[in-house]
Amino acid sequence: MNFVTLNNGLKMPQLGFGVWQVPDDQAAVAVAKALEVGYRSIDTAMIYENEKGVGKAIHESSIPREELFITTKVWNTDQGFDNSITAYEKSLERLGLDYVDLYLIHWPTPQYDQYVETYKALEKLYRDGRVKAIGVCNFNQNHLEQIINECEITPVLNQVECHPYLSQKDIKDFCHSHNIYVEAWSPLDQGGEALEDPVIKRIAAAHEKTTAQTILRWHLQNNTIVIPKSVTPSRIEENFNVFDFELSQKEMEEIHNLNRNRRKGPEPNDFNIR
Ligand code: NDP
Repeated sequence: MNFVTLNNGLKMPQLGFGVWQVPDDQAAVAVAKALEVGYRSIDTAMIYENEKGVGKAIHESSIPREELFITTKVWNTDQGFDNSITAYEKSLERLGLDYVDLYLIHWPTPQYDQYVETYKALEKLYRDGRVKAIGVCNFNQNHLEQIINECEITPVLNQVECHPYLSQKDIKDFCHSHNIYVEAWSPLDQGGEALEDPVIKRIAAAHEKTTAQTILRWHLQNNTIVIPKSVTPSRIEENFNVFDFELSQKEMEEIHNLNRNRRKGPEPNDFNIR
């Protein structure tokens, strides 16, 4: 496993396990499998409605808590200072934990203009020693600039949609220049077209790897944190088996050139659902 060191000194596995769209009971089974395979970082959220299942797998494993890296997120309806603190406490209760490693704002929902206030609540949780690190998801450059200007703690990372068809070069450059990691959600294009791309197929064959492994390797070599999701045991193993080969500079560029700026999810400014 590769680890990255976040801007507050905390170490985080560069490869983690996502559980969006996994029902609670299945999440317990999938996370147990992931932990058995060797994943130590799990990415959940209040809105996924599977924090209990994630917590169950954690408690049934014999892995010491300090070896795990658990992320959850404050949902749009819980934004605001007091609401966010309460939401954090409720997430801990469902997970059965007394802290999480990383607490993130799930979407900026700029129409409501509450993300600064929400982030200040996360700062309080961090200062009080109740969470190991804080960050954001789906923040565009202007949202991040506002956090940097009006708050005191730089987010450790920004979790954004990112895969070969949405390479996110601009936000990556901005984040890297501010010592903010980028974490890719839907790193495998949600199991979509990118896995069938002829260029990626050719590169994968040259390394005797699958297209999923090749895409994950591309993310890792880009210094991006990844959290692929799968409920299929063989794929959970496959996606973890990405540390024994290396893409050349030319192969990295070939994958980068596949970018189409094509999103599966919404543009963050347009997503104001509550
Ligand atoms: P992914 O890009 O991880 O793709 C998951 C899909 O790909 C599933 O359908 C899975 O199928 C399939 N798959 C996984 N591995 C393979 C493989 N080796 N070969 C072929 N198909 C494969 O998409 P997600 O959208 O789930 O993103 C990952 C995580 O990011 C989420 O689970 C969540 O934790 C986080 N996320 C965060 C968001 C945010 O707003 N902050 C938004 C969306 C996601 P199967 O499970 O059937 O094996």
